[in-house]
Amino acid sequence: MFIPDYHLHAQFSNDSTATVADYCHYASQIGLKEISITEHLTFYEGDKNFQDFDYVSYIKEIERCRQLFESKVEIKAGLEIDYHPYLEDKIKNKIAKWDKLDLIIGAVHYVEGRSVIKSKIEKENIKDFVEDYLKIMEKLIKSGLCDIIGHFDVFRRSTGETYQMELHLNTNTIKNILAKAANKNLALEINTSSFKHGLNDTFPCAEIVKLFKSCGGKYITIGSDAHHLEELATYQEKGIAVAKQAGFHKISCYKKRKPSLMSLQP
Ligand SMILES: [Zn+2]
Ligand SMILES: [Zn+2]
Repeated sequence: MFIPDYHLHAQFSNDSTATVADYCHYASQIGLKEISITEHLTFYEGDKNFQDFDYVSYIKEIERCRQLFESKVEIKAGLEIDYHPYLEDKIKNKIAKWDKLDLIIGAVHYVEGRSVIKSKIEKENIKDFVEDYLKIMEKLIKSGLCDIIGHFDVFRRSTGETYQMELHLNTNTIKNILAKAANKNLALEINTSSFKHGLNDTFPCAEIVKLFKSCGGKYITIGSDAHHLEELATYQEKGIAVAKQAGFHKISCYKKRKPSLMSLQP
């Protein structure tokens, strides 16, 4: 039994090999009733997904697939915004009139031009790097740009094993940020792509999901962050386990940027 996958990249993301129709077809075959496409939107020229995003064609394709897969799969139109503080106004202006979107994931992929995902951070620099990352995350939450916080501690792909120490050092900072997100009724995404990158816990790790709950967080989503068809809904059971351990027994689904809760079966 599958639950909605709320993080998928298709043909409007440069780094994906799958199409919206591919995901719909596969979802209908495995009995997955709802998917959310969340294409990359970035204005940072150094990112491989940098392009003049074709919103009109994107929505057209979502609507075409909604007709094709009607009654089989519910398809949500989303974006994953690559947040940079200096690009905030540009992003805001761009999406202001995009009223057909169901959800927006906000993500921090860079710290001062340095990739959060692909850098090798030297041990002695991890603390500063994580602190700088968290400052940008705080600005993202304040910006009001997104409904969902994407892969909150994705810097673990760059910091490796010493991360646990940093989590400990930054617990209060992290708690403050999560409390702000909870106050704004934002959802925290449980992203299961960590497992395909060899990590043993979700993004964010189970501890942070628990912290979010203790801060009054109400909404969570679960997403595979698939860039290829075969990654659809992968490691979902691990994401569900993390959610339940933290005390979340419902996930949120979005329509026109409004959340509604759906029960996670026992
Ligand atoms: Zn991302
Ligand atoms: Zn993504």
